[in-house]
Amino acid sequence: MLSLNMLLSNQYNSNSQKARVLTESWVFDNIFCPICGTNIINYQNNKPVADFYCEKCKEDYELKSKSGKKLGKTIADGAYHTMIERISSETNPNFFFLNYDKSSYEVINFLTVPSYLFMPEMIIPRTKGIPNRPNYIMCNIDISSIPNTGKIFYIQDKVIQSKSKVLDDWNKTSFLKTSTNLQAKGWLLDIIKCIERINKKHFNLQDMYIFENILKIKYPNNNNIQAKIRQQLQILRDKGYLKFNEKGNYEVI
Ligand SMILES: [Zn+2]
Repeated sequence: MLSLNMLLSNQYNSNSQKARVLTESWVFDNIFCPICGTNIINYQNNKPVADFYCEKCKEDYELKSKSGKKLGKTIADGAYHTMIERISSETNPNFFFLNYDKSSYEVINFLTVPSYLFMPEMIIPRTKGIPNRPNYIMCNIDISSIPNTGKIFYIQDKVIQSKSKVLDDWNKTSFLKTSTNLQAKGWLLDIIKCIERINKKHFNLQDMYIFENILKIKYPNNNNIQAKIRQQLQILRDKGYLKFNEKGNYEVI
C-alpha cells in the first residue's frame, strides 16, 4: 500500500505532471471516503477545484502532495486570495495531504482535513510572486495550526491506520460543520488547541486559565476570557467532544 506506481509516470516528461499522475493514481487505488468508507472517484483534470469526489456523501476532496522525508509544518497551495475567499464563503473542499519520499517513491504520511477546520489565519501568503507575475500571491497552508484532532491520518510515519479509526476520527470534529460563523468556530478551534496543549485525558479549569493571556492577545476586545473559556467548554460538552465529571473535572472523550 505504501508504494507509488512508478511505471505510470514513464510517458510524462515534466516532473510536476509525473508527480500528479503518481499521487492521484495512488489515492484513487488506496483511499476511501473518510465519512462513509466507500470508494472515491477521480475527477477529470480539467475540473478547476476538487480532485476527488464521494458520490454517496457528495463531498469533494482536493489533493495536495509534498515530497520529502517529513510532512513538515506547511504545504504549498495555490493562489492566496482564492483560498481565503473559499474559506470565508464556505466553498472550501476537504483536503487530502500526501507526503512521499521522492527517492524511494514511498508514501510516508497521508491525512485528510475536513473543509470546516480551515480558518483564514491558517493560510500564509508566500512572499515571492511567480515568474512574470510578481503580484500574483501564492500561499502555504500552515498545517501545524490545525488542531491535531482535525488531522485525520490514514498513514502516519508509514504506519497504516485502520478504516474504523479514520471514520471515528472524522466524526470527532464533524459537529463543527454546522458552525457557520467563522469567529464562533475560531473560538472552538482555539479552545480545542488549548486542550491539546494540556495533553491530559483529565483536566480542570485552572489548566485552561493558563491560556488566558494568549487568548487575550488574539481576542483583545473580549473582556472576560475566563467566562468565554467556560462557555466554550460547555459547547464542547454538548457536542460530545468532552465530558464533565465531578469536582470541575473535564475529560476528553
Ligand atoms: Zn462518502
